Amino acid sequence: MTVQAGKSASAIDKVALDAPIFDPAAFRLTDEQAGIVARARELGQTVFAGRAAAYDRDASFPVENYADLHRAGLLGISIPKRHGGLGADYQTYALAAAEIGRYCGTTALTWNMHVCSTLWSGPLADDLDMDAATRAEHERRRAIHYRRIVDEGAIYSQPFSEGGAAAAGGVAFGTEAKPVKGGWIVNGKKIFASLSGHANYYGVLCTEIAEGEKATRRNTLYLAIPAHAEGVSVVGDWDPLGMRGTVSRTLLFEDVFVERDAALMPRGVYFQAALRWPHMFLTLSPTYMGLAQAAYDFTVRYLRGEVAGTPPVKRRMYPTKQIAVAQMQIKLEQIKAIWFQAVTEARANPTKEQVLRAYAAQYSVMEGANELATLAIRTCGGQAMLKSLPLERIYRDSRCGSLMLPWTAELCLDRIGREALYETGESDD
Ligand SMILES: Cc1cc2nc3c(=O)[nH]c(=O)nc-3n(C[C@H](O)[C@H](O)[C@H](O)COP(=O)(O)OP(=O)(O)OC[C@H]3O[C@@H](n4cnc5c(N)ncnc54)[C@H](O)[C@@H]3O)c2cc1C
Repeated sequence: MTVQAGKSASAIDKVALDAPIFDPAAFRLTDEQAGIVARARELGQTVFAGRAAAYDRDASFPVENYADLHRAGLLGISIPKRHGGLGADYQTYALAAAEIGRYCGTTALTWNMHVCSTLWSGPLADDLDMDAATRAEHERRRAIHYRRIVDEGAIYSQPFSEGGAAAAGGVAFGTEAKPVKGGWIVNGKKIFASLSGHANYYGVLCTEIAEGEKATRRNTLYLAIPAHAEGVSVVGDWDPLGMRGTVSRTLLFEDVFVERDAALMPRGVYFQAALRWPHMFLTLSPTYMGLAQAAYDFTVRYLRGEVAGTPPVKRRMYPTKQIAVAQMQIKLEQIKAIWFQAVTEARANPTKEQVLRAYAAQYSVMEGANELATLAIRTCGGQAMLKSLPLERIYRDSRCGSLMLPWTAELCLDRIGREALYETGESDD
């Protein structure tokens, strides 16, 4: 937590490392999983933590962190081993992302957009139905994307939001892909496009519409559009409350030609995934699991007089502080328990109970991280919320979690209530 900006990844050995959020023995992780998660934690603690304040202050993209993620093999964390990646499954990725989020929310959230391009086209797509020819074509295409990432350090993003009901899953995406010889012509606009101006490929969800056809969600395409393709532009400002280094500006696509091999999933497979693999939308939560842990870690260290940059004054002897820490620890364990269960049982065709639990986990993490940060500020007091310390950034970053579509905190409540009370097809008419 005390590493200076610019410290290199080789400094890892010299720092007393934090304990993992999820102890490998207690949470029954394999050695391989524990190794990947430890790699993420060490990079986060020894390198990313020291740079986080500058990215936040300047609302600048964590370019240097991405070079380190590439060097550490973590850009390819979920790419299958046969394609040169680490072959991490959903749970392993989620645990690693939580560790990164603990030290730099911006890096974890943007890394999530990147990794999901590979997780969704990789292990998740392997669970979905495709005929043999489609699967073979998908295998050939994804190898192109994976090679770029593993060999060249290419960065992918996931601009889905358009400002209407599409990102919430209500209607077809307004960004349109017209089939033409060799590919598609894409037109549309994406808002809150994290990594804009910094990703090499924008993983855009759009609706394939041939001449005379109506837009339907079934025809959703997931295309990796090269950032420098003709007709692609980044517009607008970016000066938000939190998650400032995500650089989530607006993307415009004007008559952009995209070749067929840009497809990250075959026709119809994204729609199938959204129905059959709902935990795909829980992947924004690991960042905030990490922020929840960070708020707790900070509070314990601060009250013990151990936070660098503050006087070594202990405040732990006051009963009110002890009670507040106890409340925080209980809240943290509740969040960890439901979240760990949800990311562990992520799979195709989950049961109704598992889907309801996934919504509840998302809600608990997104709201809980900010509740913990709020309690941390109240408990540690005025000196702890100065900009020279990470707590106020954790507070601002954690406030943004509940806004992420399609599973905003409001939409999770909405879905849990409805789906708990109605079976599929039931109505009161
Ligand atoms: C830091 C940050 C980074 C982001 N990065 C990305 C990114 O990389 N890619 C991307 O695609 N998006 C990204 N987003 C966008 C995010 O996922 C949401 O799309 C965005 O916050 C929605 O803002 P809005 O005001 O347009 O939402 P609106 O669509 O106006 O919705 C406002 C609220 O109304 C509620 N609501 C919406 N629809 C319904 C409904 N049908 N029923 C009931 N309630 C509803 C929801 O609770 C929602 O939060 C990012 C957002 C932030 C804050």
